[in-house]
Amino acid sequence: MPLSAAELSRYHRHLSLPELGRDGQERLKNARVVVIGAGGLGSPAALYLAAAGVGTLGLVDFDRVELSNLQRQVLFDTAAIGRAKAEAARERLLALNPEISVVAHTLTLDAGNVLDVLRGYVVLDVTDRLTTRYLVNDACVLLGKPLVSAAIHRFEGHAMTYLPGRGPCYRCLFPEAEEGVVASCAEAGVLGVLPGVLGTIQATEAIKIITGIGEPLVGRLATYDALELRFAEFPFTRRADCAVCGEHPTITAPLRTVASCDTADLSSVHRLTPSALRDRLASDGSRAALVLIDVRDPQEFDTCHLEGARNIPVAELARRVGELPDGCTPVFLCRSGRRSLTACALAIRAGIGAPAHLEGGLLAWAAEVDPTFEVARG
Ligand SMILES: [Zn+2]
Repeated sequence: MPLSAAELSRYHRHLSLPELGRDGQERLKNARVVVIGAGGLGSPAALYLAAAGVGTLGLVDFDRVELSNLQRQVLFDTAAIGRAKAEAARERLLALNPEISVVAHTLTLDAGNVLDVLRGYVVLDVTDRLTTRYLVNDACVLLGKPLVSAAIHRFEGHAMTYLPGRGPCYRCLFPEAEEGVVASCAEAGVLGVLPGVLGTIQATEAIKIITGIGEPLVGRLATYDALELRFAEFPFTRRADCAVCGEHPTITAPLRTVASCDTADLSSVHRLTPSALRDRLASDGSRAALVLIDVRDPQEFDTCHLEGARNIPVAELARRVGELPDGCTPVFLCRSGRRSLTACALAIRAGIGAPAHLEGGLLAWAAEVDPTFEVARG
């Protein structure tokens, strides 16, 4: 469809770039981009893509806006707290550019729906969930769709682009999930402006892919360190043995994965509710058989922890597993129950038969057992 007079005026500074021009702007208008996760990375990515005139923007998010999101998720304002993110984001993007259409997908991506949702889009993966990142990577390889991935952690981030037939995929770079080593933002903290840089890089890549200008970030992992203000890049190549894009792929359909954890068998994990843990701690006999291991970061541990708990951050657990006393059941604790489940997986791999974890984490403990226990509500 040709550009209207209003569009010619709105995109004037694009049209003045001979490399992009009217042809590039029309390609943007006809393009469909889906942003998976309307969060820290998704905010700048979606805002810039809407402003740039991407004709159809999809937004996938099942969450609601919380006060603690506003430090970095610039799509939302204070009045949006409590609203569904995909809906609130849709309104904001249409207010910015009423020439485009925005499709809100208020859902969680899973093996059953991922192919249908992503079909027909260029995909920006901005999720903080590792299982979703692999799910989306695999779906893009299977569908033959371009994918721009980015991730952030504390003060650092990285980005890469997958183009079908042109280069390696995310799984070529990270064949297996190292869940827990990369904790999610809610748990680890993140500098608010950091996703602004990485999300904008993702939007840049999407615009380049759509308009065919420049050199995409294919076969290179770009890294950004905000504290040092340093960009670096690491070349990597396609792996012939990649499980999804290799010569003999074993992944031929989206994988159904254990929520928030990798492929370890977690069937032997004792999942303790807060009241079950309280009862065990109250009985001398069973208390002696337990050792409480808090796997959060030391700063979080110092702020609050359960009496008698020891601190071994999940990222250090694999090499410090020898510190766990023999003959005791380790009960892993974290803020929400996610890192503690990862800790269980690591413990099982290290030969500990039946570790335990506090389901729902210390947040659930505070809600159900001890209202005076102060744990930061991310
Ligand atoms: Zn691959």
